[in-house]
Amino acid sequence: MATRLLLFVMALMLSVSIAADNKHPGISDVAPGEVALKQIHPDVWIHISTWVFENGMRYPSNGLIVRQDRALFLIDPAWGEKATESLLKAIDEQIGLPVRWAISTHFHDDRVAGDQVLKAHGIKVYATELTRELAAAADNTVPEAILTGLDNAGDAVSIGPLEVFYPGAGHTRDNLVVYLPDADILFGGCAIHEAGRDTAGNTIDADLAAWPTSLQRMQARYPQVRIVIPGHGVPGDSQLLSHSIALVRQAE
Ligand SMILES: [Zn+2]
Repeated sequence: MATRLLLFVMALMLSVSIAADNKHPGISDVAPGEVALKQIHPDVWIHISTWVFENGMRYPSNGLIVRQDRALFLIDPAWGEKATESLLKAIDEQIGLPVRWAISTHFHDDRVAGDQVLKAHGIKVYATELTRELAAAADNTVPEAILTGLDNAGDAVSIGPLEVFYPGAGHTRDNLVVYLPDADILFGGCAIHEAGRDTAGNTIDADLAAWPTSLQRMQARYPQVRIVIPGHGVPGDSQLLSHSIALVRQAE
């Protein structure tokens, strides 16, 4: 009896520690200016950074690192210059491969403020002409290189292990998403909200009328997608798409 109880307690402790290991790093795990890398596939890591707003509110942010052969593809810098320095250090220490290509998925600070640091390290950051225009108009950092072929809603381009898809306007007019066919992972960026979120978030630059249709384009293109990663917070599955549609309709 005592042995069975002991085994039960040990199994419980093991499952608790696995659950803790699996937890997506949040604001209590990542200090501002620092970065956590969480590997979710042999070739894919989420990078998590946090930002502190003037009112003291802390907010987490997700980007992605994808490995192909001996090089890395970076989807969005970390949030801010200091965190992006930490990101490059973490990549160096934990993965040890060079970043060959990088993208900013829309013009807001959480996606472009770190681009200057990437440039200083010799990493060219790509974005669409629209993102570059909107970033310049907002006085944000302008990504260096132009990504073409994504002018119209539904356009997609393949780059290495990535498919970059323009679903149409949503969180911003220029928001891009990135799909990884080999891993069956969709990085939705800020066009997609985590399950724990119950509002449409920062909608200052959003196109609330077009956003649900843009999310439906993602559903149509990636109907059975296994993992969906929002711009902020905890990853989920394809249900994050319908969840986001509901939140946006409620905000409209
Ligand atoms: Zn965002």
